[in-house]
Parts: sequence; structure tokens; C-alpha cells
Amino acid sequence: MAAQTEESDTAREQTKAEQDVDQVRQRAARDQQRLDSGAVTSPKDLENLQKEIVSLAKRQGDLEDVVLEVMERREAAQERVAELTERVGSVQAKIDDANSRRDAACQEIDGEAATVTKDREVVAGSVPADLLKLYDKLRAQQGGIGAAKLYQRTCQGCRQELSITDVNEIRKAAPDTVVRCENCGRILVRTSESGL
Ligand SMILES: [Zn+2]
Repeated sequence: MAAQTEESDTAREQTKAEQDVDQVRQRAARDQQRLDSGAVTSPKDLENLQKEIVSLAKRQGDLEDVVLEVMERREAAQERVAELTERVGSVQAKIDDANSRRDAACQEIDGEAATVTKDREVVAGSVPADLLKLYDKLRAQQGGIGAAKLYQRTCQGCRQELSITDVNEIRKAAPDTVVRCENCGRILVRTSESGL
């Protein structure tokens, strides 16, 4: 925007400088006409007129230099505008690309979440109500993990190894008994790797 403002400012400046040149040129042309017409006869008036024509020519030259200087600045501003416009376009393309990749990822995640939610509903339907209630309570208390695998006598929820007493008790418990970690309270899931 700053570059565009500079460009339009120099455009205005150029118009103004060109008008200045035009005014001087017209005045010099009028003087020249008067001189050529022979209407001015007094030597003093003729001398003044000639002096003015010379001085106007000098003035016109100076003003034309101003026009050239402004045109150079305007050209530089135009180049800057073009360069920045191109950069804006390339950054915008990157933004568009990132947005569309994000949208695609969101869509994929939404789909996955829907599938997982459905899967969970099926599993939850097969779990006894009181156990599900306990699990949900523990899950809320324990950072999203209500049940953990018992792996080589270690609770995978809190990473604590169970005491010999606890291991012995779990060993004796019936397969359908809900056993819990003494340390974190999570439901322990027994497998062949539990070290029992
Ligand atoms: Zn634990």
C-alpha cells in the first residue's frame, strides 16, 4: 500500500511538473508571436521581450529537468509496486495451499473421530453398566485413561511396579474380577504378558 501511495503521489507530481512546463512554453510562444508580428516597435520593449524569451527558455529547461527527475522516481515506484504485488500473490498462494491442506486434514480427522466414536459405542454396549460407570469416573480423574494394561507386573497407567502382595492377590482373583492398581486406582487389564 505504501508503494502504491508513493506511485500515485509521484504520478500527481509529474502531472503538476508537466503543467508548469506547459505554462512556460505557452508564455514563451506568445512572446515569440508578439515579437514576430512586428507590433512591438519601441527598442526598449523589444529588448525586454527578447530578455523574457531567453529567461523563459532557461526556466523551461529547469522545469523539464524536474519532470525527468519525477519520472525516474515514478518508474522506481512502479517497479516496486510490481515486485511487491508479485510477492503478495505468491504468499497468498501459500496461504491458500495451507488452508486447503488444513481443511482436508480436518475432514479426515472428523471422519476418523466418527468411526472411533461408533466403535466405542459398540464396545461400551458390551461392558456391564457398573463397570462402565467406574471406568468413566476413573478416566475423568486420571487424565483420560481409566484402564491400563498390566505388563510384567507394572501398571502401564502409572508405570509403577506392583508389590508382591498385590501381584499375589491379582493372581488369585477370578478372571472376571475387576482388579485395580493400588497406586493410581486404574482398572488393570490382565494379559498373558502380565507376569502373573
Ligand atoms: Zn497404576
